[in-house]
Amino acid sequence: MRWSKTHIPTLKEDPQEAEIPSHRLMLRAGLIRRLGGGLYTFLPLGLKALRNVERIVREEMDRAGAIEVLMPALQPREIWEQSGRYELLSNVMFRIRDRQDRDLVLGPTHEEIITDLVAREINSYRQLPKTFYQIQTKFRDEIRPRFGLMRAKEFSMKDAYSFNTSPEDLETSYQAMYQAYVRIFERCGLRTKAVEADSGAMGGSSSHEFMVLADAGEDGIVECDACAYAANLERAERRAVAPADETPDRQPEPIATPGHKTIEDVARFLKAKPTDLIKTLIYTANGQPIAVLVPGDRDLNEHKLARLLPGQTLAMADDAQIEKATGAPVGFAGPVGLSLPIYADVSLQGRRRVITGANRADTHLQGVDLTRDVTFTAFADLAICREGDGCPRCAGTLHEKRGIEVGHVFKLGTKYSECFKATYLDPNGKEQVMIMGCYGIGVTRTLQAVIEQSHDAQGIIWPASIAPYQIAILPLNVSHAESLKTAESLMTTLEAQGFSVILDDRDERPGFKFKDADLLGFPLRVVVSERSLAAGQVEIKRRGVDEKVMVSCAEAAQKIVELLK
Ligand SMILES: [Zn+2]
Repeated sequence: MRWSKTHIPTLKEDPQEAEIPSHRLMLRAGLIRRLGGGLYTFLPLGLKALRNVERIVREEMDRAGAIEVLMPALQPREIWEQSGRYELLSNVMFRIRDRQDRDLVLGPTHEEIITDLVAREINSYRQLPKTFYQIQTKFRDEIRPRFGLMRAKEFSMKDAYSFNTSPEDLETSYQAMYQAYVRIFERCGLRTKAVEADSGAMGGSSSHEFMVLADAGEDGIVECDACAYAANLERAERRAVAPADETPDRQPEPIATPGHKTIEDVARFLKAKPTDLIKTLIYTANGQPIAVLVPGDRDLNEHKLARLLPGQTLAMADDAQIEKATGAPVGFAGPVGLSLPIYADVSLQGRRRVITGANRADTHLQGVDLTRDVTFTAFADLAICREGDGCPRCAGTLHEKRGIEVGHVFKLGTKYSECFKATYLDPNGKEQVMIMGCYGIGVTRTLQAVIEQSHDAQGIIWPASIAPYQIAILPLNVSHAESLKTAESLMTTLEAQGFSVILDDRDERPGFKFKDADLLGFPLRVVVSERSLAAGQVEIKRRGVDEKVMVSCAEAAQKIVELLK
């Protein structure tokens, strides 16, 4: 392809709208353009790279035995009401109406649609297991679309759904998808980490996220420095530690803390450490108030609380509910004398000399002995993990990282198959409910994550597998006939071997062309100059490597193929 025949609008300056390197580079390299918040047009080179990611995803899905389908993005309201998610997803769902006043949804995901389809199409154990997938546009009404393709309102996703006859059968399908994901991200040149993810009521190993480690990541994760344990912060557990040996006071002592409500405030005022204080949070569970205690220097992990109280609707109590439950204004709640169910983080078990709210305005209690002064409903791991916590699986230490979620594999169970009556007849002619798994990859997000992980000050460094063009040929003087002829002949040879090549035929200064080639990140750059041709040679350079190689024109194609492998 000649540069002049396509459209590559590179920018010299950093665009204002971009906050992270990959977003900046996609705009500067002319891969995408913004239409509106969270909406992007793919320009020719961006689209070529996206198609390459899609091709890898498709090849690996097919290899893993998944079957491709394509479902509509536009879906009737009724199917979402059947699963109860018309309400549940109301804050992310685009809803529209047709000319007959029928309500429709722009699909944010497709569990409902595929399960309804399979319920109609499959009815015997002989047809199972099956995994269906599609690569399709999804729509989500993000509160804060940002970072380009990372969090967009319209994006491309690969979603797959397995239908199985037993938990063991599901495990097999899950593992096949897990391994396919490992291969997909490897082939895209991405370093990913599979971490345990929050899976609601399902067990520990039933959900994994594939994370690209990057400072710009929106997900917090922890990983152990000694074993393979890694988890999303929503999910991450920590090793319990024995409480400090504390000498109890004879009784809790009220102390005036006028206007000091936050942990930091109270600690400073009482010259205590935040760890000496207890945070008492008031929540409602199915509308009834409960108290949740965590150490003063820790935050509650609401996902852990939800797992402790399955099936209950949890919400933070509002000011009025807190006053009613504790008899004190917000900021002075404490567990002593509180007649509510009290749940506490496991690290508080055995603490005998702590400071809590007194359930009285402008007052705290010192010298509270939790083993003596409070009756707990249950202790559990309820706090959010952080840097330095003990690994729950070994004696190692957890370290905090940021990650971009590019894939997710999840055991769904029978939630949707029950709802849509996706049943089959087993070998005994008995009706059984199918067990499901679901498996997603953010295709457009994966593309941008590659850039986030692989770039330098000059621009993108594409892996050859998804680069829009694998080779850029730069004749430095396009009015020099022999330069152009050599460049074209090399392009023809390489294209015939299946490589994608761009020939920079612009009448521009060499420095300008070099800068654009670096910005666009083509894996190999071939320079054809009058001087090199005088010696019968061209110059080859790999992106991201300083070394340049001079080879004879006759051997250039062979050398390039070698370097790309
Ligand atoms: Zn460990």
